[in-house]
Amino acid sequence: MDNRNQPVLVVGAGPVGMVAALALRSLGLPATVIEAELEGRFREGSRAIYIHKATLTLLEEVSPGLGHTLAKNGVIWPVKRTLYRGKEVYVRKYQPPTPGELPAFTSLAQVEIEKHLYQACKDAGVRFVWGAPIASVRSGADGVALTAQSGETWNAEYVIAADGARSAVRREVGIEMEGPRSQDYFLVVDVKEDEADPMPLERTFHYSHPEMDGRNVLLVPFKGGWRVDLQLLEGDDAEAFGGVDGVRKWLPKVMDPKYADRVTWVSTYQFYQVVAKSFADAKRRVLLAGEAAHLFAPFGARGLNSGVPDAILAARGIRRALDAADEGAREEAIAAAAEERRTAALHNRDAAGIALEHIQGSSPYMNMKRELAASLCSVVPKLGRWLDEGPYGPKQGSSKVSTKY
Ligand SMILES: Cc1cc2nc3c(=O)[nH]c(=O)nc-3n(C[C@H](O)[C@H](O)[C@H](O)COP(=O)(O)OP(=O)(O)OC[C@H]3O[C@@H](n4cnc5c(N)ncnc54)[C@H](O)[C@@H]3O)c2cc1C
Repeated sequence: MDNRNQPVLVVGAGPVGMVAALALRSLGLPATVIEAELEGRFREGSRAIYIHKATLTLLEEVSPGLGHTLAKNGVIWPVKRTLYRGKEVYVRKYQPPTPGELPAFTSLAQVEIEKHLYQACKDAGVRFVWGAPIASVRSGADGVALTAQSGETWNAEYVIAADGARSAVRREVGIEMEGPRSQDYFLVVDVKEDEADPMPLERTFHYSHPEMDGRNVLLVPFKGGWRVDLQLLEGDDAEAFGGVDGVRKWLPKVMDPKYADRVTWVSTYQFYQVVAKSFADAKRRVLLAGEAAHLFAPFGARGLNSGVPDAILAARGIRRALDAADEGAREEAIAAAAEERRTAALHNRDAAGIALEHIQGSSPYMNMKRELAASLCSVVPKLGRWLDEGPYGPKQGSSKVSTKY
């Protein structure tokens, strides 16, 4: 590969970097992805399991067939339930998706999503450079120079930085993140399904699970497994609940005890709610996308679902910049893409914050609101829906892409 004079380079072969590469190819541009780790690396945990229809639709646009492939390889639960102290306060049953159409969502482990993205990238002629952690970035009037830890250098007119939460590219171009971190700890656990005797496919949220001394528990199916989120209370010892041994002690209280021997991943989080101060560098040569640009609490599944439109808008902005008649139009194309996705990120951060407050807020007002909703929902059904929707925050278009492009 010619390391010089590339129109655009992508840093990071996570899901967002791969979507950026697919979007570039769909716009007739060559795409090279530079990744720190080696090909075939192990990526743990289910992480981004819930993919919205809007995201599947965008993936169809940049790689026809990909949205349907993800839908086919995921699961779609026909029922969701919400319980309050063990009493059902909301249930909703869905019609099966219309054959041939994209479903409202699909649920599969992020590693599986990445496998399909990687295959689509290979089919689209994306080039990958593995084992090349970028250590230095110089952005100037004519383009960007990227240097890996090995000393190898690449030059491009533009860079899409999709190198994740600890983005070296973001650090190198001097963009800061701003925002708070959640107070409480959350445990995220994956368990493998017993395919011979599976649980019914139902997403279930428990406010104040009676067997868990009032802690909230969320059970979400994904293809081949279950994700169990436990919200710890203030003063809980996260270590006592965490680790495979800690989880085995409490998991039988919320699922069939057989799942205690099927734990595949345990992780403890305090969630960040941060957004980059700018999604483009001062020279308008580098665009941030995905977790390089924002981190949200996962309630509402806004991470990857907003990383996908970040990547696609970055590619479209770069296409416009490459075609621009003059420097002003070039800068404007990059700035517009950056600003649009930063506005979306701020909106998503607020929505995830509302979701966090809904489930963890302990003010007398919030406690009373939840109690009242739970006790009145049999006569006012919309209160049950409020309890059900709360953990996801207000409905909004995290995947929305502007029609300007
Ligand atoms: C518990 C949990 C649950 C979640 N659930 C959901 C969900 O249901 N739906 C949803 O939409 N999102 C969800 N998310 C968020 C989702 O996982 C992230 O948004 C997604 O992984 C971000 O992808 P990314 O490509 O931006 O970053 P990453 O996946 O982190 O990829 C970054 C890539 O860059 C590489 N890299 C890093 N540094 C360098 C460097 N210096 N040079 C070159 N390469 C580098 C890394 O090796 C990596 O391959 C969840 C997250 C968590 C933690």
